[in-house]
Amino acid sequence: MSKLTLDRMLQSQGFGSRKWCRQLIADGEVSIGGQVMDDWRAAVEVEGLEFTVFDEPWRYREHLYVALNKPSGIECSRKPSHHPGVLTLFPEQFAWRDVQPVGRLDHDTTGLLLLSDDGAFIHAQSSPRRHVPKLYLATTADPVTPELIAQLRGGVKLHDEPAPIAAVHCVQRDSHLLEIAIEQGKYHQVKRMLAAAGNHCAALTRIAIGGLQLADLALGPGEWRYLEAEQLALLN
Ligand code: URA
Repeated sequence: MSKLTLDRMLQSQGFGSRKWCRQLIADGEVSIGGQVMDDWRAAVEVEGLEFTVFDEPWRYREHLYVALNKPSGIECSRKPSHHPGVLTLFPEQFAWRDVQPVGRLDHDTTGLLLLSDDGAFIHAQSSPRRHVPKLYLATTADPVTPELIAQLRGGVKLHDEPAPIAAVHCVQRDSHLLEIAIEQGKYHQVKRMLAAAGNHCAALTRIAIGGLQLADLALGPGEWRYLEAEQLALLN
């Protein structure tokens, strides 16, 4: 159990500066259990707290863990230059909370992307010591051949990598479609691996991270959802 004053609670959830949160409260825009809360000093139990701001329902979350079905044409970088940034797909509270993508997908790569404001979680997920497979569907420009699969499974040499890098899983799904899993998250890794094996990646979608499958999340392109403990456990 832990309590916060109402203004601090709102601030922690990304509703802006403390001054602004106090203004929201004074304006009668914040309710708990259907009751308008007009005193910023009110101490509220945050665990499991549900509240509304401008009639929109929210639940208190100490940290945010979300899964996005990333559409094409969106950049994951902090300072997007050519395409809209990924945070444009989320409520503005997420930017206030400094939510960041866990690793990156290229602007033209679609599929499962995790985001969080929990620095320890982001760090742990991104650690090179983690061996969690990330599964992709890669559409190839040239037909998939047994040789291509053998090369990707055996390891290909990427420019600026000292040792060959192998897919931990690689199977043909169709004449121009590969299912490929990698454990690292190197820059343009799948595209570079396909190029190094003599083919070209025409389109790329991430369909799973560890045991967390995009198909089980029922998200259309651009849609996102909060991840709860049982889904986070699938990432290990
Ligand atoms: N590999 C790539 O080449 N691009 C991505 O976005 C992810 C993995």
